[in-house]
Parts: sequence; C-alpha cells; structure tokens
Amino acid sequence: MTRTADAVVVGGGVMGASIACHLAERGADVLLLERRHLCSGPTRHSTAIVRLHYTQPLLVRMAAHGLDVYRSFDERFGASAGFTTCGMLFGVPEGGRETLAANVEVGLAAGARTALVSADEVAGIDPRVVAEGMAYCYEPDAGYCDPYLATVGFAAAARRAGARIETATEVTSIDPKGVEVGGARVDAGAVVVATGPWTRPLLAPLGYTAPIAPAPAEVGRYRLPEEFGAAPPAVADFSGMQFYFRPAEPGFLEVGSLAPEHASRPIDPDDPLESAQPATLAAYESALADRLRGAGGGHWRGAWTGIYDVTPDWEPVIDRVPGTERVFVAAGFSGHGFKLAPAVGLSIAELVLDGATSTFDLGLLSADRFERGALVGARYGYSVLG
Ligand SMILES: Cc1cc2nc3c(=O)[nH]c(=O)nc-3n(C[C@H](O)[C@H](O)[C@H](O)COP(=O)(O)OP(=O)(O)OC[C@H]3O[C@@H](n4cnc5c(N)ncnc54)[C@H](O)[C@@H]3O)c2cc1C
Repeated sequence: MTRTADAVVVGGGVMGASIACHLAERGADVLLLERRHLCSGPTRHSTAIVRLHYTQPLLVRMAAHGLDVYRSFDERFGASAGFTTCGMLFGVPEGGRETLAANVEVGLAAGARTALVSADEVAGIDPRVVAEGMAYCYEPDAGYCDPYLATVGFAAAARRAGARIETATEVTSIDPKGVEVGGARVDAGAVVVATGPWTRPLLAPLGYTAPIAPAPAEVGRYRLPEEFGAAPPAVADFSGMQFYFRPAEPGFLEVGSLAPEHASRPIDPDDPLESAQPATLAAYESALADRLRGAGGGHWRGAWTGIYDVTPDWEPVIDRVPGTERVFVAAGFSGHGFKLAPAVGLSIAELVLDGATSTFDLGLLSADRFERGALVGARYGYSVLG
C-alpha cells in the first residue's frame, strides 16, 4: 500500500531531527526515515562546539540562532541538549592577527559577544593557556552540547507535534514525488534529504551530483593529570599542527584537528570508526602539552574517527535540489554543522512550507554554486572553521 506524508525527511542525525521538528511544529504531516537508529551517523561523534567565529555574516547569524536555541533547549523542548558554557579562545600565530581581527569585526557587526584579547587578558581567562607569539580572540558565550541529547530532543519534540519517526528504514531511492523504502512507496508533498556523507549517491539519480565527500575526523578523549584543576576554556589553535580542544566531563578534554589536510584521506562512511591513528593521538598530545600548561602527562581514554561530509568550500548545501520543485537538501556540513542545525531546521521548514526562506537568506549556500564557480569565501582558507 502506498503511504503518504506532506514531507518525508531522510536521515535521523541532528539535521533531520531538527528539520522534522520545525516542519511538524508548523503543522506539516512529517515522516522521518532513518536507516539505522537516531543519531547513529557522524552526529554521534561530534564534539558539538557552539561558537560564532566565522568569516561570513550569514554563518555568524545562523550559529547565533543555534546558540540561543541550545541554551534554552529545555524551556523550548522540555529536555536538555546538555549545553555547557565554557568560553572559547581562537589563537593564530602573530602574523595572522589581521585575519582574526576581521572575523571579530564580522562577529560584532552580527551581534556576537567577541573581542581580540591581549596576552594579559588570556591569562585572566585561564593562565594555563600559553599566549606568547599568538594573537587571540575570545567568545565568552561559546560552549558545547551533548549531540545525542540534542538529536533525540528534537525528535521527541517532532513526535509531540505529530511527526512519525521510523528507524531501521533505509530509503532506497528518491524521485520528485516521494521515496521508495525497500519496495514500498511513500508519496510525499516534499522530500528533504539530510543524509550527511551518504547524500551524493542518493541524489545522483535525480541529476544532482552533489560534490560532498566523506572525510575522516579523528577525536581523542584525553584524561588530564589529576592536579590540572578546573576545566579550561575551549581553544582553537591555528599554530603548528592546527588543532582544537574543549572540556568534556570533569577532568577530560576532547581533542581534534583543524587542519584541512587531516580530512584528505578517502574513507568509506560505512567503515567501523571506533578508534584513531596512534600517530594522530601522539601529535595531539604534544600540541596540547605545548598550548596548555600542566596538560602534559595525561592519558587517552578512548578515541574515534568521525566522518565529515566535505564540500569544495567546506560550507553546506541548503537548497532545493536543482531541476526539482519539491526535493530539498541540507548536507555537506563539512565538520561544523551541529551549531547550525536549529537554523537549518527553521530554514528548511520555511522553504518547504512557504516556498522561500524569510529568516536567513541562504543564497550563499545554494546547490549550484560549485558549477557556477561561486564558492563561499573563508579567511582561513577552506577548513572546518569556515
Ligand atoms: C568528529 C566530529 C566533530 C565535530 N565537531 C563539531 C563541532 O564542534 N561543532 C559543530 O558545529 N559541528 C561539528 N561537527 C559537525 C556536525 O556534527 C555535523 O555537521 C552534523 O552532526 C551533521 O548532522 P547530519 O544530521 O547532517 O548528518 P549525520 O549525522 O551524518 O546523519 C545522517 C543520517 O542519515 C542516515 N541515512 C543515510 N542514508 C540514509 C538512507 N538512504 N535512508 C535513511 N537514512 C539514511 C544515516 O544513518 C545518518 O543517521 C563535527 C563532526 C564530527 C564528525
């Protein structure tokens, strides 16, 4: 029997869950289909940092919307997304001060709380962060979430608003009128594809070869030495190997890479990913000991290789699929999509239900920009920092 829905959302990561929630809250009859279980893809490996530092004002505003939503998640959705404020320092070698200052200006103009900070001010934020030879800016409101809680929180809100969510259900093909699910058909007024690194093969039969490639992102959970003390702020460090860390549960940090080359190894998104390369962890540990006084001499307690869905300009595609009227895509988040998920849910609901976005002008993130050579600009080169 053919089933129907106003909108089928394909993919149950944070993006699909947010999209389903926003569509259902506006009264649409929504069916979310996830081939495994909710938050079983790259979202579960996310460090889920929410910060506003970007080159493009659009992305600052979308991230600021995300910060508002995650901070007030329990008021809005009746459950926590685990948001913890930790503040975030962004450090570049002295020669990069102008780049940093330009992004701070973009942030300030878009209403972010951010400022360049001197070495003395860095010491006031946390004297253990090594500031010599570096220029820093600071965002006091930045923090991180639990990506699992955020995803299931959006999904629960979607269900309360009437959405149907079916897991262990793989969409095998998409056409302009609906989807196929293992021989069964769902006719849909709209189809939204939020399938991260699995997006390209799903959309290719519709004639859109989304330039979205799976790429590895290794993260380690580091146990700080007993005597280290209170949690440090999150830090993005563009010197040396280019890495970041953020606090996790008491006494632990999550540590990952900011270097685009780190994500250049081809990877199958279905590979088992429960570890990281020993050489990567050794490099993280040495960079951490150099940047954070007292952090050396800890231990790795677990590591994983998550998957980024990377586009040529490291920015997502959020748009109608070219050549179709009612198929939409939100993918290619290139390792920085968690913070954008609330804005993406809101925007896709506007696109599907109103025919156009009204809160954010998403022209910059159009699906055909690669073909047109209109890549999104980024001051740090193309990387996860945008
Ligand atoms: C290691 C790591 C660290 C990160 N750190 C940050 C960070 O600090 N801050 C930040 O903002 N972002 C971060 N990100 C990025 C962010 O987590 C992702 O952009 C975001 O989680 C992507 O969510 P998604 O829902 O688009 O994709 P996914 O989580 O990939 O979900 C896609 C879902 O689609 C399902 N699916 C695929 N094909 C089908 C099909 N045919 N039928 C049905 N279901 C299907 C999959 O099973 C999967 O569950 C990080 C990512 C990683 C990997």
